[in-house]
Amino acid sequence: MYRTHTCGELRLEHKGNQTTLAGWVQTVRKFGAITFVDLRDRYGITQLLFGEAHTKQLDENPLGREFVLQATGIVNERSNKNPNLPTGDIEIIVSEFNILNKSAVPPFTIQDDTDGGDDLRMKYRYLDLRRNAVKKNLELRYAVNRAARNYLHTQGFMDIETPFLIKSTPEGARDFVVPSRMNGGQFYALPQSPQTFKQLLMVSGYDRYYQVVKCFRDEDLRADRQPEFTQIDCEMAFVEQEDILNMFEGMVKHIFKEVKNIDYTEAVPRMTWEDAMWQYGNDKPDIRFDMKLLNLKKPATVYTEKKDDAALINGADFKVFDEVETVLAISVPGCSEYSRKQTDELTEWVKRPQIGMKGLVFIKVNTDGSYKSSVDKFYSEEKLKAIAEAAHAQPGDLILILAGAEERTRKAISELRLEMAERLGLRKKDEYKLVWILDFPLFEYDEEGNRWVARHHPFTSPKPSQIETMIGNNPVIENAAEYLKHPYANIKANAYDMVLNGNEIGGGSIRIYQRELQEKMFAALGMNKEEQLHKFGFLLGAFEYGAPPHGGIAFGFDRLCAILGGSESIRDFIAFPKNNAGRDVMLDAPSTIDEKQLNELQIKLDLKN
Ligand code: ASP
Repeated sequence: MYRTHTCGELRLEHKGNQTTLAGWVQTVRKFGAITFVDLRDRYGITQLLFGEAHTKQLDENPLGREFVLQATGIVNERSNKNPNLPTGDIEIIVSEFNILNKSAVPPFTIQDDTDGGDDLRMKYRYLDLRRNAVKKNLELRYAVNRAARNYLHTQGFMDIETPFLIKSTPEGARDFVVPSRMNGGQFYALPQSPQTFKQLLMVSGYDRYYQVVKCFRDEDLRADRQPEFTQIDCEMAFVEQEDILNMFEGMVKHIFKEVKNIDYTEAVPRMTWEDAMWQYGNDKPDIRFDMKLLNLKKPATVYTEKKDDAALINGADFKVFDEVETVLAISVPGCSEYSRKQTDELTEWVKRPQIGMKGLVFIKVNTDGSYKSSVDKFYSEEKLKAIAEAAHAQPGDLILILAGAEERTRKAISELRLEMAERLGLRKKDEYKLVWILDFPLFEYDEEGNRWVARHHPFTSPKPSQIETMIGNNPVIENAAEYLKHPYANIKANAYDMVLNGNEIGGGSIRIYQRELQEKMFAALGMNKEEQLHKFGFLLGAFEYGAPPHGGIAFGFDRLCAILGGSESIRDFIAFPKNNAGRDVMLDAPSTIDEKQLNELQIKLDLKN
């Protein structure tokens, strides 16, 4: 037996007991004839005390950091207790020890504040994983996994595996492909998600499916993405949107309770996509704080149900506002006393290429009731007051206004809103606010191709009341400039996203389950009959054999873990992640393969760079 206890287990109550521990040497401290060693394993750290009897042996064969050591001895009460360690009241008086394996000097210290940089830690990820900080993240990941599985199991869901070697099908991103040796010149694709398989399982009658599953997307790895990531992927048959929302609200609340001991009892609010865009500037609003947008000018018809507050800025002959598509404002609490330097700095902030605005207009709502703005020339105090009231500004607030093209301006104000909240400490890590976003547009317009693309994916159904609009209209866009007037522009999807603290943590939809409508959908996306059959013949075929109404959702498991762990980076929650260039620096992958392998695959390389 290698050990009787773990290094995190022993307490004062074990005093006098004999124990054998096995673990890694964290530190060695020598005091004359006595040597202290901190022995570490997954469960904790225990202090070992080597007395004079071992001095010679230790001098001849010194213990180094990360040596694997087995030690037997008696549990003793420490005279110098360490209140920071659960095992800090005791130590082991070692009678016998055995070096199970030596270790080279690790390239960085195995501690929370390590001296290892990112690249080094990734190269030696197996050492990095020994660090407590990383271990805690993996433990949290496992806790989330367990909680999700337990919940789904009690709700009657079945975990069913689906294949990784599949057929290349479009789902928004680029596929990773795998050449087939046995079928020369042909390729498998790795699944971007198990989407079509889970739908087929519904056709097969497995009406509650889930899987904690890897998905592969060959995307540019901007902002904290991984080429392979994990989803909690779910599908249900005989359900409406309401059933899915309730079921998965339940799952996330269960995870909160199990993992964070948070009783998230209130109902998760629901917001339409239009409301989210209108009030927050994006479809994953952080609702931990208010600062909603004031729409002073809206573009032609994107937000069909919305009315702007144009009267407040019209007629002032202020060209900047008159000539742009969209004017948006937020009221930032308590910042009216910003100095010139501070407003200049904010102006520079919105002009950065990532934000891309030409300038920033501000109105200070002073505590004495007066107003001071960068557009005093154009707007009377009375007008400024009216804008302030519409923006729900309080005395002491600073109103920030951006003007420009719709998409860019809305994006910019939503970034500015988050930035100001960050500066004001309103994005608290230990506060969790969920919101459902509903009624997304079914289609997006792709300017380049002058065609419709599916906003979620091609299996998402339109709102039942709009199925007729879809079936009854020709998808072709005759006049690109007026695409917004096409009936398809206003079709809303039976799709939903769950948003947590400004992050989309899950998304899904009620699916199309009739062949005719699915064909219409594919046609709308520019796929002719032949292509439809080539790519999705199996699904269209399955829909002929009694496909039940169904719908589902997939949660971004890595992201959910990162948020619950209070981190910005999903990499911290993945045992073996890739870097920003999609490389595994430990394996040095991807890498070339040898001539023989290429020959077997009948592949000739013709590299352009
Ligand atoms: N498969 C979809 C995705 O990965 C989610 C879903 O619709 O269930 O985004």
